[in-house]
Amino acid sequence: MRQRGSQRAMSISFLLILLLAACTAPTPVVTPRHVATNTPLPPTLAATPQPRATDTPLLPAPRPTSTTTATRPAATPTPLPTPTTQATATALPDPTPFAQTGGDSIGDPKAPELGNTGYDVLRYTLALAIDPATETISGTATLEVAATLRNLGRLSLDFSGPEISRLTVDGTEAPYQRQGTKLFVDLPSLLDEGQAFTIVVAYSGHPQPVASRYLGFIPLGMHFVDDVAFVVSEPDGARSWFPCNDHPRDKAFFRYEITVPKGILVAANGQPDPPVEGETTTTFAWEHDSPMATYLATVAVGRYQVIEGAASNGIPLRHFVPDDLVPAAETLLAPTGDMIVLLERFFGPYPFESYGHVVVPMGGVSLETQTMTLLDAGVVSRGAEYVVVHELAHQWFGDSVSPASWADIWLNEGFATYASWLWDEAKLPDAMRRQLETVEQFAWQADSGEPLADPSAGNLFGFNSYSKGAWVLHMLRGEIGDEAFFKVLRAYHERFKGSVASTADFQAVAEEVSDQDLDRFFDQWVYGQGMPNLAVNWQQGIDGSLQVQVCQHQANLFVFDLPLAVGDGAERTRQTLTVDEIEEQLIWPLDFVVTQLQTDPEQAVLAKVTVSQVETFSPCR
Ligand SMILES: [Zn+2]
Repeated sequence: MRQRGSQRAMSISFLLILLLAACTAPTPVVTPRHVATNTPLPPTLAATPQPRATDTPLLPAPRPTSTTTATRPAATPTPLPTPTTQATATALPDPTPFAQTGGDSIGDPKAPELGNTGYDVLRYTLALAIDPATETISGTATLEVAATLRNLGRLSLDFSGPEISRLTVDGTEAPYQRQGTKLFVDLPSLLDEGQAFTIVVAYSGHPQPVASRYLGFIPLGMHFVDDVAFVVSEPDGARSWFPCNDHPRDKAFFRYEITVPKGILVAANGQPDPPVEGETTTTFAWEHDSPMATYLATVAVGRYQVIEGAASNGIPLRHFVPDDLVPAAETLLAPTGDMIVLLERFFGPYPFESYGHVVVPMGGVSLETQTMTLLDAGVVSRGAEYVVVHELAHQWFGDSVSPASWADIWLNEGFATYASWLWDEAKLPDAMRRQLETVEQFAWQADSGEPLADPSAGNLFGFNSYSKGAWVLHMLRGEIGDEAFFKVLRAYHERFKGSVASTADFQAVAEEVSDQDLDRFFDQWVYGQGMPNLAVNWQQGIDGSLQVQVCQHQANLFVFDLPLAVGDGAERTRQTLTVDEIEEQLIWPLDFVVTQLQTDPEQAVLAKVTVSQVETFSPCR
């Protein structure tokens, strides 16, 4: 996600991702294209941790065999054992099963109110009529689901959308209760672990955007602007327009059947079917058979021209653009295919079957909705190419590999930001250094002081996740070398594509591929706070030797290599000082009179540095 800013990468708030989608209108209940029992579990479901239900089951679940206290999270765990009812006396015949209740949290410590357990959603089919004139939606959400608890009798969904008129489970009306943003459903019969079932929720009304505690600059959910409707869902807005298990850990396939007034087009994730014409309406179906997080589900409705093409590697491109922005969009989006080809070189094969953009009036925010990025109209009119490559990079990092916890958001935003620097570097060799320098200059003020891997809820989409995240990736590149670094990115995507990954997962891949212990690197740059604040003092003795003192003034000690360059009008020589104490001193024999000392000329270390020529050194602290 990116939010508009007056200067590229120059403010916390301008770096944000938004998801737009819109859906409405009465549509008959849709028969799923595939029955759930024939639908393979999306890969993410198998790889996703299924935390223990938070609700207390009627019978106690088995106690965990051990608990581990760690200062850092472990790699994404294998699924916890499914709680089961305890065995009773073996001689008793077939006791009546006790109903289990799915949990109303998927177990993300950063967002404990999101997601649910006891089931996996395999596929959503959203059959909705959307009317921009009345700002209403109506229709059904069909969820093909598999139980993950034995004797599942009750579950919860995330839903804060319009009024529900009917809810069925496998065709039978089921009692439900709405409490806050949860929708509790009593199942008509107990379900076995692994058993497939279908929930259909019929609802209609005006979908109210919701205020997110994670993203304060725009309400999340469905927005209506003139004859355009779109949805912004990252991170927790999907539940405001369709009932869902609203967390990336439960990815699913999607199908949309969206009915709109004639003359209006619909863009969504995946591939379109031929439209079906009614008397006054048209129904557009889209289907996406790659696992997708709910926050990336998008429907955008508007009057568009469609610009079609293909990348040189054959990936089809499809852009939905309002008439007045067609010339600007043709210019801005022309390099999209080249961007895909370049990013494939760095990240591995493009993960989906097609790509495109839908242009909407999003007030400066763009969002990497899977296969169909929502691009702000302002981005198009001002030709902001870096946003195009940023959102494209998210197709690998964010969409294909999603965060296991919202605390891992830097794995989305840091990677996408760095991708835009890689695109610049490919065109202009000095561009990377200049980007790093620009970010470093304001990093000291913009740094939240929170660990990169654990931002507070209100800082998920702040400076650290984007710019510091990108800087840290660049330093990792310096630490392990170009060849290993890009191998790491490709291996990380390959291992977790279609699923979710944590910061610990990324470190594990980086260590495995580079064959290096990266604990110290991750401890100080990713799990630790802040960045070095250095005073570099120097003086030259009458014998020509240069004495350099480096003081670390920040709270926590950092360990790093600091390149130094000296000259007498032009640079004459360099050396690298390993800094691992509060105070370092270096004596450097030279045979010329030094007139300047430059630290870190190639932007290798994220730090605030003040260089001074002094008469005498004072103690650092
Ligand atoms: Zn982004």
